[in-house]
Amino acid sequence: MENWAELDRRYLMPTYSSLKLPIAIEKGEGNYLYDTEGKAYLDLFTGLAVNVVGHSHPKIVRALKEQGERFLHISNVYLNPPAIRLAKRLSDLTIGGKVFFTNSGAEASEAAVKFIHKYQQKKAPDREGIVVLKKGFHGRTLGALKLTRQPGVYQDFPLPPYKIIEIEPGNFEELEEAIKQKPLAVLMEPVLGSAGIYPLPEDYLQKAEELCKTNHVLLCMDEIQTGIGRTGTLFAYEQAGIEPDLILFAKGVGGGLPLGGIISKPDLSDLFAPGDHGTTFAPSPLSSALGNTVLDILLEDGLLDRSRQVSSCLWGQLTDLKASCNHLIEDIRGKGFMTGIVLKGNPENAKTLRTNLLNDGILIDVTQKTIIRLLPPLTLTNTDVDRFIETFKKHLLSLDKG
Ligand SMILES: *Cc1c(COP(=O)(O)O)cnc(C)c1O
Repeated sequence: MENWAELDRRYLMPTYSSLKLPIAIEKGEGNYLYDTEGKAYLDLFTGLAVNVVGHSHPKIVRALKEQGERFLHISNVYLNPPAIRLAKRLSDLTIGGKVFFTNSGAEASEAAVKFIHKYQQKKAPDREGIVVLKKGFHGRTLGALKLTRQPGVYQDFPLPPYKIIEIEPGNFEELEEAIKQKPLAVLMEPVLGSAGIYPLPEDYLQKAEELCKTNHVLLCMDEIQTGIGRTGTLFAYEQAGIEPDLILFAKGVGGGLPLGGIISKPDLSDLFAPGDHGTTFAPSPLSSALGNTVLDILLEDGLLDRSRQVSSCLWGQLTDLKASCNHLIEDIRGKGFMTGIVLKGNPENAKTLRTNLLNDGILIDVTQKTIIRLLPPLTLTNTDVDRFIETFKKHLLSLDKG
């Protein structure tokens, strides 16, 4: 058999080498991945919040085949029915305006930056700058990287000259002060993801909406990780009862294929004029067909409702675990199936647990060194939850001995 680890080291630039696990994946089915030796792994990572309906869902595979037999790519010069249908559904389910599709999350952030500057040119020439949150993550291409406020991620690169105003997440006064500086937009993740799973309080999101509305500032929600049912509603902002002006989406929306984009409110939907933005590949008809299938499964088959029950079972069990292991668990935080287990004690604990769970056939993620991040598929079952908790608890308690 090929030595995939050795070939990976030789031929792929080492940008992911500190994260990479030594298993070569052969196939996926439901909530499990299988490696080339046939070992099964319960997938609580879903390729970073992408496979929301699990692996090789029969409806996804059927949609892939059906659209694959029709056409894969046509460009934006002809009408693209799967994408038009998806745009209509995303619009109807959210803030009612038009969609611009991209191939990835970073490109959705890039589109948002351009869109916000069209707002400046056409509607708000006396305003400047985008308010972003400390430790926020919005992508790694140069235009998006300026918005990403994580030390170690952006410092080494030349950033574009547009202005940003950085504030502490959840701090009302800093938000008010920032709005006084007459910015164009406020951009935030409703639950900060790679920063370490920080849910913004609902009253903070409501305050942001109120301040933005009265001051003609665009409220932009980066739902790239939180969207498509991850936090228990189709988009996380819904739970605060607010209406953003712009929504960024990607990750789960294409059912495993690359797809992202932005949705605006109707009164802003014609800020991009012909020629203002574009890309060859997006919206991929194939990704769009899968996107429609994801929405069918979440909304028509009732998976979104069902996932809320399973996620509350997970939260209940994690809360109990924390109560019995207070010396090892600092906090459990997040929303729905976007869950962070903040560890304390030896800073290596998270990595040790990741390795030990891998050996026992469970895949989890670690972010910010000490935080276990769970991003399971929405198809997770109560049995999967029980298995995870039991295995996790066993390895957590064994940390005491080591
Ligand atoms: C993943 C992510 C991005 C970037 O998406 P890519 O597809 O990796 O470019 C942007 N914002 C948030 C909140 C994300 O989680």
